[in-house]
Amino acid sequence: MRYSDLYQNALNRLDSPELAADVLLLIQKSFNLTAVQYWIQKNETILDTSGIRKFYRYLNRLIRHESPAHIFKEKEFYSRPFYVNKNVLVPRPETELLVEAASSLLPKPGKILDIGAGSGVISITLALETGSTVIALEKSPKALYVLKKNIRRHNIRNLVFPTKGDLFPITSEGRFDLVISNPPYLAEDEWDSLPPNVKNYDPREALVAGATGLELIEEIITRAPGFLAPGGCVLLEIGYTQKPALEKILKRNLYSDIRFVNDYSGIPRVAVACWSQR
Ligand code: GLN
Repeated sequence: MRYSDLYQNALNRLDSPELAADVLLLIQKSFNLTAVQYWIQKNETILDTSGIRKFYRYLNRLIRHESPAHIFKEKEFYSRPFYVNKNVLVPRPETELLVEAASSLLPKPGKILDIGAGSGVISITLALETGSTVIALEKSPKALYVLKKNIRRHNIRNLVFPTKGDLFPITSEGRFDLVISNPPYLAEDEWDSLPPNVKNYDPREALVAGATGLELIEEIITRAPGFLAPGGCVLLEIGYTQKPALEKILKRNLYSDIRFVNDYSGIPRVAVACWSQR
């Protein structure tokens, strides 16, 4: 059997061409190959039989809708690898837009509060990219374990401070230049319509906010001014229909410089608003 036969067999069994990239990743991990090595060897006969067994074990998990991130307990974010497990939300590519928008607001290192840090991708990436200090707030003890593991992995203990807490720190940490969050923003009934690869493997509390989906977003926006330095900004990832609601909530709370960043399909995914009042 050749590597390309393995690939084709797997795609036939899965019957969903959009999983082609995942199958390639499974092959690479099973035989310890880089993408380039795979392309060079794909028409050679496979000699590593234990690799073949490994591949079919992984494939069965993919068939049961487990993502490669969950199978390998790793996901890339902003070109860096992060440890993940079922207790945290696997980082999504949209969240990179949030981090990019935040970096552009920090020409020099600042002080950041990351609400609901989860695996820590936002906190750690911002600390590495901008040299800022980040309070990474997380309420779930199991997610905090993952967050701390990633802080050690990226050797950034001097800048990222994992803190147990819900929404805002209890003790006064001073004022922040940025309050950032990728909060749960789905409505309760949206959960049921999510695909099985999300519903079975991502934590519900990382995604669902309440009856409307806006509950946590609204609370963050209302309370953030009490934690922002003058001119400080709030950055939030939002659901694809939430821009009009966000505009209203932000205006009602007297924010200025309200803007939205669209994702690659033109959908507003990030809200940025600053606080100039004293
Ligand atoms: N901050 C983490 C992320 O963006 C977790 C967010 C969450 O659990 N809602 O991936």
